[in-house]
Amino acid sequence: MKKWRCLLGVLVISLVWSLLLDFTVYTTHAEGSPHPQKSTKPNISARGCVNKHPVYYSIDLPTDQKKVVITFDDGPDGIYTPKVLDILQRYKVKATFFVMGKSAVHHPEQLKRIVNDGHTVGNHTWYHSDFQLVSENEIEKDLLKNEKFIQEELGFKPLFVRSPFGRINDKICRVASRHNYTLIHWDVDPKDWDGRSADRILSWVKKKVKPGSIILLHSGGGEPYLDGSIKALPQIIEYLRSEKYQIVPLQEVLKMSPYEKGKKK
Ligand SMILES: [Zn+2]
Repeated sequence: MKKWRCLLGVLVISLVWSLLLDFTVYTTHAEGSPHPQKSTKPNISARGCVNKHPVYYSIDLPTDQKKVVITFDDGPDGIYTPKVLDILQRYKVKATFFVMGKSAVHHPEQLKRIVNDGHTVGNHTWYHSDFQLVSENEIEKDLLKNEKFIQEELGFKPLFVRSPFGRINDKICRVASRHNYTLIHWDVDPKDWDGRSADRILSWVKKKVKPGSIILLHSGGGEPYLDGSIKALPQIIEYLRSEKYQIVPLQEVLKMSPYEKGKKK
């Protein structure tokens, strides 16, 4: 009997130990730290990708490093993107635009302005398909179609990708991994796309923002749904600054290049 108890004890200890080891690998890889530290604490940045490809929901920063990132999806268009760019220019804020090919193809001048104004371009696919519903092969084609367009228009391959609708599953994780993309999600989503008021958008940001946050807004998606967003943007910037937040480019906090080296014209 004693022998069985002892054996059971050894089994439990080794199971716990292997789980801890596995979790350590998971968290360090997900943080993308240049100096991985052993940690068994859950890390929100790692959520989602079952095959351990990193997905950034936010960036792990010490609470005294009040840096945040603002991202804009679904543009560029000819209505809202110019307004967003004007506001960012006025406030000297650099943001990241996850561009959608099927819209960008009609507004290449806005795509170029994003880069000329000093912002970062990421891949948001061509068709904006729902990756829960399409095959891995279709996801890959959608991503690469947009990549090719961005390369032709801007002369570089982006390395940041945002999955349409924020869908994170094994298929997009494998595709991102194969093509050297880092998946960027968000932790602050005021749902500005549904026509809500500037007040609601601002109060959501106020409630959720923290050091290392990735804020999701939209710079395209059809009239009149982003009017609240355009009105809220200056207020969001002013609020963040009043709270001593610095709004920084994604690549600065991630310490990663946003474009593939050697691919720029
Ligand atoms: Zn989108």
